[in-house]
Amino acid sequence: MSTQTPALYPAASPRADLDTRALAGELSRIVGRERVHAGAAARQRHPGDMSWLTYVHAHFGRPLACQDVAVTARSTEEVSAIMRLASRLGVPVTPVGGASGVQGAANANCGGILLDLLAMKQVRHLDRTSLTCTVEAGMLVRDFEDWLNARGLSFTHYPASAEWASIGGCVAARGSGVLSTKYGTMQDHLLSAEVVLPQGDVVQLPPIPRHGVGPDVTQLLSGSEGTLGVLTAVTVKLRLLPSHRRFAAFRLDGLGPGIEAGRRIMTDGLRPAVMRLYDKDAAVKSLERAVRAGLDGETMLIMVDGRHERLVAEEAALCDEICLDLGARSLGAEVGIAWWENRYAFYHPPHAPQLPQIWMTMDAAADYARIRAVYDAVTGAIRNAADPRWGLTLKTHLSHWYEWGSMIYPRVVVPEGPDDLDEALALHDSIVRAATLAALEAGGVINDHHGVGLRLAPYLEQQFGATGLSMLRRIKAAIDPAQVLSPGKLGL
Ligand SMILES: Cc1cc2nc3c(=O)[nH]c(=O)nc-3n(C[C@H](O)[C@H](O)[C@H](O)COP(=O)(O)OP(=O)(O)OC[C@H]3O[C@@H](n4cnc5c(N)ncnc54)[C@H](O)[C@@H]3O)c2cc1C
Repeated sequence: MSTQTPALYPAASPRADLDTRALAGELSRIVGRERVHAGAAARQRHPGDMSWLTYVHAHFGRPLACQDVAVTARSTEEVSAIMRLASRLGVPVTPVGGASGVQGAANANCGGILLDLLAMKQVRHLDRTSLTCTVEAGMLVRDFEDWLNARGLSFTHYPASAEWASIGGCVAARGSGVLSTKYGTMQDHLLSAEVVLPQGDVVQLPPIPRHGVGPDVTQLLSGSEGTLGVLTAVTVKLRLLPSHRRFAAFRLDGLGPGIEAGRRIMTDGLRPAVMRLYDKDAAVKSLERAVRAGLDGETMLIMVDGRHERLVAEEAALCDEICLDLGARSLGAEVGIAWWENRYAFYHPPHAPQLPQIWMTMDAAADYARIRAVYDAVTGAIRNAADPRWGLTLKTHLSHWYEWGSMIYPRVVVPEGPDDLDEALALHDSIVRAATLAALEAGGVINDHHGVGLRLAPYLEQQFGATGLSMLRRIKAAIDPAQVLSPGKLGL
């Protein structure tokens, strides 16, 4: 039996000092009684996010979802009134969008109010000339994309969780989607925001994202995970729907040539919308199930899109040339097309992991000079972190590429974890710790796009340094002196 206590995941039982009925009554006066749920009903309606941490804590009867009250807001005015009330009473507030986070961030583990934003889903303004749109934070990514597609437009932010994730949650978690290599991550899509501060003040950030007028406050909110303000609406970049897509797939002779192909493609200024390099285990044991193409080693999928057929054909041909020049063998477009058509299947039964498995993704980013070292260090550390009797499996791909570097995306599954919560957490945490420290030591950062939540909160100091973390804490203290919003999250 492990002696490690799960102090990383403090789960307060609903606050004994709180008059839940009185709080629910005051909230009902703001939003109406039918939008307020108290006690067990609040916790049943919102059992927490989609991280393994949430499921395993709930399974063993120590849920991380400890909200005393859950309230659904429909307007910025309601959010503002809720924050004023919470601030006056000193009650913690945890904003929640689609609760699809995988780091435990959207759990109200300190009790208080869970602020559900999914009813805020209006499109406020579409600018077809500038290709921008102001949309409320609770709009789901998939619904937004469908709405735009019907108008010949695209959001181009396609997380694999599009059916669950809200736009506000994507900004707050600083996410990324499968098309990020060409269209950028969520922070690149974010142009402006409306935000409610902890005391209830509403701030409209500048409508134009480019200016030399002081620091970029809009971007301060990106990745803030509900600690600095509640996003009620955001203005995002749109694109015209592409009319042409070209797919390619290659078998590479090792990961090194694959990384070099990706590097050359990016530094040559080519911009495939999708570029996914699978290591051997990921190709053979995971991708193969979706594409059924007899994969037997490192595999690269590429998709180039655009509105000009000749340009798309030329860009695709140049990407092909670089891969072939590095000794790659073409597997044909069908493999790429099959992945595109089945790309959401990985996240649904029977492919999605479930208890008693332990599962996690440990994405890390690094520049091209260090990405291979980070891959070797992180995958080696993960393999060594668990005793072989646990039968840990690891499949890694690189799926978001930048001009300066890339990221690795290791997916870890322990087929059957310990049947004791503390032991299961200890095993999970030892893998997280090993991977995180290995990424840092090899010169990477500890996350590319899944955020921090509860899982990575202990490593903020290693990521930013003591003075860097202190700076972040002072920003938090200045904006939220009473620590009302998501207390304890982000290691703040
Ligand atoms: C199967 C699966 C696949 C996934 N694939 C991807 C992927 O491809 N790319 C990716 O980036 N992520 C992915 N994720 C993770 C997750 O979907 C993203 O982090 C997503 O951005 C979370 O959005 P959400 O609305 O569900 O946020 P939530 O989980 O509800 O919240 C996440 C954080 O944001 C805060 N928050 C939410 N809304 C607001 C708001 N309006 N104002 C202030 N703070 C807010 C919460 O307090 C919390 O800290 C995946 C998750 C799953 C389960």
